[in-house]
Amino acid sequence: MDKDFFAIIEYTAQKGIQPVIFTDGATMMRDLAFIKRVKDLGASVVPKCDSLYDNEYQNWVVGDETGRYFYERNEVIELLIDEGFNKIEMDGTTRLGFDMVISRGNLSEVADTLTFCRQNNLWIVFSFYLPAGRSGSKEFEKYKWLVPSEEEKTQLRRTIEKIDRNCFGFVHPVLNNFVTMPCVERLQIYGDGRVSPCPGNETCIGHIQTDSIGDLSKKILVDFPGHNPECFEGHCLYRPRIKEDN
Ligand code: SF4
Repeated sequence: MDKDFFAIIEYTAQKGIQPVIFTDGATMMRDLAFIKRVKDLGASVVPKCDSLYDNEYQNWVVGDETGRYFYERNEVIELLIDEGFNKIEMDGTTRLGFDMVISRGNLSEVADTLTFCRQNNLWIVFSFYLPAGRSGSKEFEKYKWLVPSEEEKTQLRRTIEKIDRNCFGFVHPVLNNFVTMPCVERLQIYGDGRVSPCPGNETCIGHIQTDSIGDLSKKILVDFPGHNPECFEGHCLYRPRIKEDN
């Protein structure tokens, strides 16, 4: 863990920015005192979730040969719920959720995972593999069989729309990535300080130590106008568009 972990979260929250912690959920988060400190600082938590129901698939994704990861991660989700991270906040939001990367290994769990999240007030987005980063690399070729077909993605979007509308009275646009909500990300800072428009576009447009965020934002809008929030509809700019109308 970064030695400045809590200082970073505290600083972020003080600046009026919502800290969101993406975590494996099976190491530091198993410590109740740690969880309580995260809660007191106002951070939201996103435990890794490739499967809530299939321990073999989940452990395979994280490369855990001991077989323990799945159960430990599930314990952490329970702890976070016990500590009230999923309680409805004053502004109607929640501080617990999942960003689930959809593959042929977990497609069949989408309906149950969505229902679990809706019933327990967790937010949920369903991401498809990115044509960049690790899933855009040559190494990923051998895992291509995991990538759902366009038909499977279309079916998945329909399933989500139907469950949300019929079971929870929640009608929302169906997006080509995330499905349940629009993309709101703009400006990605790598660990070494390089900046790119977002995870799907790795073009380096500057450096966080030498360029101001204002200047970097302007450069993104000039070089990649599709990111302009005034005309951006929330569909991923780098994944194939869905063919059907929303
Ligand atoms: S545009 Fe696509 S790749 Fe970029 S942040 Fe949004 S969803 Fe991710």
